[in-house]
Amino acid sequence: MPKMNPPKLQMVDLVTQYQKIKPEIDEAVHRVLDSGQYILGREVGEFEAAAASYLGTRYAVGCASGTDALLVAMMALGIGPGDEVITTPFTFVATTETIVFLGAKPLYVDIDPLTFNLNPGHIDAAITRKTKAILPVHLYGQSADMDPIIETAAKHGIPIIEDVAQAMGAEYKGKKVGGLGTVGCISFFPSKNLGAFGDAGMVVTNDAEVAGKARMIVVHGSKKRYYHEILGVNSRLDTLQAAILNVKLKHLENWHEARRSAARTYNRLFEGAGVVTPYEAPYARHIFHQYTLRVKSRDGVAQHLAAQKVPHAIYYPVPLHRQQAYVQVGSPQVSLPVTEQAASEVLSLPMHTELTEEQQQYIVAAVREALDR
Ligand SMILES: *Cc1c(COP(=O)(O)O)cnc(C)c1O
Repeated sequence: MPKMNPPKLQMVDLVTQYQKIKPEIDEAVHRVLDSGQYILGREVGEFEAAAASYLGTRYAVGCASGTDALLVAMMALGIGPGDEVITTPFTFVATTETIVFLGAKPLYVDIDPLTFNLNPGHIDAAITRKTKAILPVHLYGQSADMDPIIETAAKHGIPIIEDVAQAMGAEYKGKKVGGLGTVGCISFFPSKNLGAFGDAGMVVTNDAEVAGKARMIVVHGSKKRYYHEILGVNSRLDTLQAAILNVKLKHLENWHEARRSAARTYNRLFEGAGVVTPYEAPYARHIFHQYTLRVKSRDGVAQHLAAQKVPHAIYYPVPLHRQQAYVQVGSPQVSLPVTEQAASEVLSLPMHTELTEEQQQYIVAAVREALDR
């Protein structure tokens, strides 16, 4: 092991980040507590407006989580039993869970080996009469290759749902993701790039009809209280979380830069180590929600890191078409070799806004040591 005292290491360091902006956050929280407006208080509308302006979309509708954002978006698009949604098997479970929850079927296509995102070249062949949406995920904080996806969707008249859970502020050809497709679904889970201090989410769109429906769906399908026009759920954005997110949004660009800088440091420290460092596509501004390596001997390296108490994670060890809950409902089992290989090789290292170069040296030394064993 490297001969340094182990620095305090975590996958994400939310507390140090909070300490740095504590007065602003505490003031916002106390303002809400004193106001008594705990449900749909003024901060919710303020944050929706600020987020829409940041992303360049016409509408933003807050909701209770990123998972609910996907659910609400699909409900607003009328996706239901018998429908198919083309998506990636290499993502967090929520992307597929919500499709299946609505009685629709996820149709998985393989990913791009460099970006880990939906491979646009496979989409056209997967479209059937039942296809009701294409659902790319901007995984690890990097945009999927949207132009060919938009072209295919337009050709068939199918909406695009962007899963922006890991990519709030990531760019594709200079434009923020989320407003590139029909509807974008954001998560403010605490460890996401813009994280609340609890669960929160948002649907963003330029489509007035989708926005109007989403606005109703999050409050039991109603515009006027106790008059229910469509099927809805209870999924409001919490006022306290909105107040916190309003403060944190102002820091988001600086935090993207901190992550991008930490990624450059990792890349430099890994030179010649025999691992594949993250690929940043020419069209992308990667915001490094995760810093994810590809390592041939991944499980051995992970074991060594665990023994040395170096935090690390595997996003995701089992692709969704192999998950017990979804084996029955997914595509008739096609082979998805690029996804399978990625699932066996990816290894994510600590990545957050408070990483120091000393911590990164320690982490990289531990990975190099594991590789040399
Ligand atoms: C985190 C995440 C979600 C779900 O967000 P929650 O706010 O945790 O419900 C959906 N999709 C992806 C890709 C995610 O990473």
